[in-house]
This record gives sequence, C-alpha cells and structure tokens, in this order.
Amino acid sequence: MKFQAIKGVRDILPPESALWNRVEQAARDVFHTYGYGEIRLPIFEPTELFARSIGTETDVVAKEMYTFEDKPGGLPPLGPYVPPEDYTAALEHAMRSGQIPDMQSNRAVLDGLKGWLGIMKDELVPQEQRSAAFGNWTATLGHIVLGEQLSLRPEATASVVRAYIEHGMHTRPGNVKLHYIGPMFRRERPQKGRYRQFYQIGAELLGPSDHPALDAEVIEMLLAFFARVKLTGAKLYINSIGDKNCRPAYVERLRSELQKVHEKLGADSQRRIETNSLRVLDSKLPEEQPIIDKLPHIADHLCDACREHYAELKRQLALRNIEYEENWRLVRGLDYYMRTTFEITAPGLGSQNAVCGGGRYDGLVELLGGPAATKGIGFAIGTDRLMLSLEEAGAAATCGLDVFVAWFGAATYPAAAALARKLREQDISVELPAQEMKFGKSLSLADRLGARFAVIVGEDELAAGEFTVKRLADADQGKLAEADLLEYLKKSRTA
Ligand code: AMP
Repeated sequence: MKFQAIKGVRDILPPESALWNRVEQAARDVFHTYGYGEIRLPIFEPTELFARSIGTETDVVAKEMYTFEDKPGGLPPLGPYVPPEDYTAALEHAMRSGQIPDMQSNRAVLDGLKGWLGIMKDELVPQEQRSAAFGNWTATLGHIVLGEQLSLRPEATASVVRAYIEHGMHTRPGNVKLHYIGPMFRRERPQKGRYRQFYQIGAELLGPSDHPALDAEVIEMLLAFFARVKLTGAKLYINSIGDKNCRPAYVERLRSELQKVHEKLGADSQRRIETNSLRVLDSKLPEEQPIIDKLPHIADHLCDACREHYAELKRQLALRNIEYEENWRLVRGLDYYMRTTFEITAPGLGSQNAVCGGGRYDGLVELLGGPAATKGIGFAIGTDRLMLSLEEAGAAATCGLDVFVAWFGAATYPAAAALARKLREQDISVELPAQEMKFGKSLSLADRLGARFAVIVGEDELAAGEFTVKRLADADQGKLAEADLLEYLKKSRTA
C-alpha cells in the first residue's frame, strides 16, 4: 500500500519552502511598517460562522466547505447488544457532562426516548405496541445532534471578525490592524493555481472610520509587499459595488435584465439569476460575454454617498501614484463585501490569474454580533499563485548550506563535531557526515548538496591547529586557524 497526498493538496518541499518563508517574512516586515500585528487563528470554526458571514448562497459555503460533526468518542456504538435503556442513560450522561450539546432539541429527543422506553418496559402494554415503541425509540434517536457542525476555514476574514468581537478589540485605541498567514480549505476542482488546501496572506483593518484613505492605504501596503518580493507585471483592478442603500435596487434591475436573456445563458448563470445575480458578472464563459457586456453597470446606480466614496478612493490612489484599472464586473464571490472591491492579477498563471482579492465589509462586524459602528476593509493574497508567478519569473531558493565539514581519521571526529557546533552557534548552516567517508566521495557529496565551502579536518590539520577551507565554486583553498576560520565563514555566510 502506497500512500499519497489526497487530490488537491500537496507538499511544499525544501528548497522551495525557503522561498515561501522569505515571502511570508517579507509580508510580516512590510505589514509591520503599516502598524499591523499578526493574529494566529484556529483552522476550524463553527460552520454557522462562515454561513452567516460569507453567505449561504455562495459557492464557497454551498459547495466547497469541508464540514464535519464534532462527535464525542465515548458513546457506546448502537447495536443489538446495547439495551435501549443503557443507551438512553449513556446519552443523558453525555449531555449532562457536556460531551454532546445540551440544547433544546436534544433535550426533547431525550424526553421522547424516555417516553418510548417507558412503553417498552410496561408489562401491561400489549407486546405488539411494545415492539412498535422500540421502532419509535430508534427513529427518535436518529434526531439527536451528537456534536457541533464545524468547518475547516475556507477563508479568514470571518475568523478575524469573530476574534475582534470575542476579545472586545473595539476598545483598543485607533484602528485595529491584523494580518494572518496560513492554509485555507475549499473543495474546488483542482487545476494549476487552484488547490483544495491553499495558503493565504491577508490583512484586515477594523475601526470606526470608513474613509477612502484607509482603502487606498491598504492597497498601497499590498503593492509595497508585491514590490518587496519583486513581483512584476501585477495589475490592480477596482470597483465599487454600492451599499445596502443602493445595491438592492441595482441587483433587482440586474435580475430583471437577466431574466429577459435567461434562455441564452448557461446553467450556472441561470441558477445564479435567482440565488446570487451579481455573480453572473463573474462568468468567464465566452458565449455569455456579449450578453453580460450589455447589462446595466453598478456605477450608474450608486447612491450619492457611495459615489462620493468611490470618487475619493480614486483621488486617494492617484495621490499615491497608484495605477489602477476600473472593472465594473468585479463583484467578488463573498456576500459581505460592500463599496470598494479590488483584485490584483499577476502574469504566468493562466486562467487562475488573481493573486489577491479584497474589499470593504462595513456591515460584517454587526452581522456577527459586534458593535454596529465598526467598519472593515481587508484583502487576501493567494500565496500559492504568488509563488507560481515568482517562480515563473525566475525566483528560486537554494538549500542555503554554507559548510560541509569533511573529516578523515576516527581521531578527528571530536574536533570536527566541536567545530560544527561552533559554526552553527554563529548561524552558519553546516553538514557533518556521521560516518567517515573517502576524500573524493566526501567532496563530491559537499558539491551535490550545494555547500559553498568544505572545511577539511584531517590528522595533519589537527596536529597543526589549522583547518583547510575550500570554496567549492572555484576550488580556491587555504589554511586557517579556528578563530580566523570562524571570522572568514561568518563574513561569507548566506543570508
Ligand atoms: P478569496 O478569498 O476567494 O477572495 O480569494 C483570495 C485569493 O486567494 C484569490 O485571489 C486567489 O489568489 C486565492 N485563492 C482562492 N481560492 C484558491 C484556491 N482554491 N487555490 C489557490 N488559491 C486560491
């Protein structure tokens, strides 16, 4: 039996993982300069959190979440050997001790079970009715909720907002600025740049103000990060999708226009007319493009406040010399967005070319039970796609091995081990063979491992109190005493 990673997930191996670390560290460094601190979030949350915030009609919630019931392990398995009264008692104990949810519907189920048990045990009740009661007992048992519905997080904004509310972060001074780095899970059809476990680097700004300068600064930070990791060819697209005052009327208008062309649309778009008509604008189907081009634009339906917000966003981007393109079809797939939406594309990614999506979500904190006045804006970068684009453009990491310590003669091993430890204390990366190797094999392995230097510890060297150091790129070599060797290697170690 050979095990393999399941479809849509993958391993990230060294040296590629070194490039990932470098990129993630660049995000921490750049976001820090804008006042963001890292938040580490749980990988799973109650399903309800995602359903409420992202929206039950979105693909992410309706089709793509990994959801499971958080069942306790301690209940006896139901079967012919477990008498119904024992099972009922076990359930009651589990509910009392909090192993399964002590909720209204479960208490009702338990009462029902006890009722049927009473009939089953009552000798005065005819046998036929007692058998039927057993059937009813089994059926009632089917309605018990053994555990909470949990989901692997498909994105992190909902969790950030949950944490913001749970920890009363609105009482913190100024805006609350948080960033996160980690895996997300969506059961999508895997293809290049689309995975079922993928990674995001994201940031959220929560606070009392919705000033467009904040939106522009968030975008500026994002572009500063992309510049820091040397992503070339990134393009920024922006849009405004209105708010609860003006969007419903636009969506109604859109829906009625879409109903007129219903027959000409594909099955997905036809379904979305009723469930999530804005999402029709996301369609990439070539035959739908001429139809979508003729649909009404939201920019013509924004209320005064949204129109002014959008105009100010564009002024704020211009004063920062940020280039952008407007895309009226940029609506984003998640329900909580309002007003500003944006997306960044990068080259080398084929059809999955969005490396970052984001927008404003002013109502989300209130929707999840937090203070109504809190506004929010944020983004999520698809790290997998960012890495693909960087690698496509030639970015590569090496293994970063600095020194191979080649020792010859059993008596030299203690000195070699001591040297290796001293070098490592200076943050120098060292490979020390555990067993003695022949000279040629040893140096060839050093080469194949990509070491930059070989330090040779032989009996002659030991006697002379010196080490031979060889730069593997050009075979330049010399002898150095320990202190000088440490100094020399420290100066030339890899970053
Ligand atoms: P979203 O959370 O859908 O707004 O996505 C934000 C970014 O995450 C996208 O622009 C992609 O770069 C990335 N992303 C979303 N889904 C996936 C996926 N299944 N695989 C890889 N990257 C993804």
